[in-house]
Amino acid sequence: MLVIIRKRLLGIISVILIALVLVITGISQYLNNPASMYTVNIEEEKNYIKWVDFNVPYSAMEKALALDIKAYETENKLNWIELIAYLATKYGGNFKKYKSSDMDKLVKALNEGETMEDLTANFKHYSYYYEAYTAVLGGFVGEYEVEVDDENNPGNKIFVKKYGLKAFSPIAKGYGFSHYDDFGNSRSYGFKRKHLGNDLMGSVGTPIIAVESGIVEALGWNMYGGWRVGIRSFDGKRYYYYAHLRKNHPYHNTLAEGQIVKAGDVIGYLGMTGYSTKRNVNNIKTPHLHFGMQLIFDESQKEGNNEIWIDVYAIVNLLQKNKSSVYKDTELNDYFRVYDIKDPIIPQVIEEENE
Ligand SMILES: [Zn+2]
Repeated sequence: MLVIIRKRLLGIISVILIALVLVITGISQYLNNPASMYTVNIEEEKNYIKWVDFNVPYSAMEKALALDIKAYETENKLNWIELIAYLATKYGGNFKKYKSSDMDKLVKALNEGETMEDLTANFKHYSYYYEAYTAVLGGFVGEYEVEVDDENNPGNKIFVKKYGLKAFSPIAKGYGFSHYDDFGNSRSYGFKRKHLGNDLMGSVGTPIIAVESGIVEALGWNMYGGWRVGIRSFDGKRYYYYAHLRKNHPYHNTLAEGQIVKAGDVIGYLGMTGYSTKRNVNNIKTPHLHFGMQLIFDESQKEGNNEIWIDVYAIVNLLQKNKSSVYKDTELNDYFRVYDIKDPIIPQVIEEENE
């Protein structure tokens, strides 16, 4: 009898001991491996935008921009991105529903003292559209200084303060181009894929202009884009891609990776390079600039299957309101901008180092 009880006791004790060991091991593993905890937290924190379908038409952007600029000097300021984001939310992202009168109604309400916060209180997706469109258009409008001809002192230029569109057309002033909305068209070189930009057909040698200030992130040959340059905006959200640049002299001679460029600077020349693994080869049939914009909300979206490229056709049309005048320096064999700008988006310290 006693033997049986002892055996039972031993059994119960060993079960308790094993359970204790398991619990202690579990706790120590949990403590020693905080990664298991962090993984959960990081997943939660990485709640960034994964996709943007940009279909805001020129007419809506143009109107919102004009309203924003007009209201700048007044007490009732208007933010063009807020106006567009409000309408996007109202339309469920489908701008085929756009009516100019909808924007008028919104502006009327704002001017009568209603706030965007009140007006969007029941709009579940407003913050998404506002963040997405700020990523697209956030560097386009603001205060800046630009050189103009000094009327009192012919041959000289002076800086004047301005507010408005400070992003430039990718094609220099005085140079023609044609384009249509070719975003998403099928391409077959290399592999079957979609066209992720806008082709601007023009003459070989046309000076190509930096649309926005930023840092040169990529420069060199790419089997699809040929001689290409990639420039990242200072907020890191936009990657501008300019491809098929001219054979033999694709870039402005001063251009280098890591360098700061200002909106309106000449960065290169239109050409027909690309579609070749061999460098400096003209395999593009029609001379054109391939212009693209990639959005980056998280660095994991920079390269791979998560890339977000948007349709820039309407944006290129909007940018025709601001073109950079250029001249040729025959000695340096390069084109340069005529009118310099001071863009407050460029970090001051870096700008001084660059000069
Ligand atoms: Zn293209």
